[in-house]
Amino acid sequence: MRYKGTVYRPPSEGNSLVIQATIGCPHNKCSFCNMYKGTQFRVRSVDEIKIDLEMAKEFHGDYVETVFFADGNTILMKTEDLIEIFDYTRTLFPKVHRITVYGSAKYILLKSVEELKKLRSAGLKRLHSGMESGDDEVLKLLNKGATADEVIRAAEILKKADIEVSQYIMIGAGGREISRKHAINSAKVLNLCNPDFIRLRTFMVFPGTPIYDLYKNKTFQLLTPHEALEETKLLIHHLEGINSTLLSDHISNYWNVEGKLPEDKKHMLKELDYALTLDDSNFRYPGRAQL
Ligand code: SF4
Repeated sequence: MRYKGTVYRPPSEGNSLVIQATIGCPHNKCSFCNMYKGTQFRVRSVDEIKIDLEMAKEFHGDYVETVFFADGNTILMKTEDLIEIFDYTRTLFPKVHRITVYGSAKYILLKSVEELKKLRSAGLKRLHSGMESGDDEVLKLLNKGATADEVIRAAEILKKADIEVSQYIMIGAGGREISRKHAINSAKVLNLCNPDFIRLRTFMVFPGTPIYDLYKNKTFQLLTPHEALEETKLLIHHLEGINSTLLSDHISNYWNVEGKLPEDKKHMLKELDYALTLDDSNFRYPGRAQL
């Protein structure tokens, strides 16, 4: 396999074969993200991708069961091209039972339900989507390129196509100022999306990003560990009427809160109450580690 630049994949794809179908991110404008800065976005040709799949076949034989097609927003590729690479993947690796890609609302909405259904039939089982927030003010601050309403519509069409939705929420993305509204409105949107997975990440700032500049000039304030745990509590408290699995599967988080909704809600809140009895100094401070 030939990789270009740093390749990112969700932690839950740690055992997956990772193939770059795109290089970089077509949006590349989120104010907090430095993942593909300096990388010119391009879609790799189907032939190029097929060669990588063949190289993987030579290396892994029949052992591959899950495949993640990186980089950012691979869902934007032409539907017929995605179908061709998914079909080829399943031909080369007969044990594959899950193909996944990244896609934010802006790019999911470029597809029709019919197209998404075809992709589902070709093997696209799950889509990882960086929703980040359900609050329009925060989404604007993050320059995410989508509104809360678009996030809801994107989740709706994925569900109609029977594609699992894995939504990523960033605790602290509104800073101190918009913390409460960010938590409550994110819960409201998640309640309407009912995603299969809600995955929490704690907001971090990276040099070279617009949010970092706001942080440096004190316009934007990172949450302390206790504030982040309080925001997480508020978010979970407002999650109602959904049957999502909530996970904290990322090193950025202060506490590993996880469970199935609705049955584990009380337990998760209790866990957070316990975490809040610990002094702030007990927590690693990932948001500041690299400043
Ligand atoms: S859409 Fe994702 S990869 Fe692209 S800039 Fe935003 S956070 Fe980064």
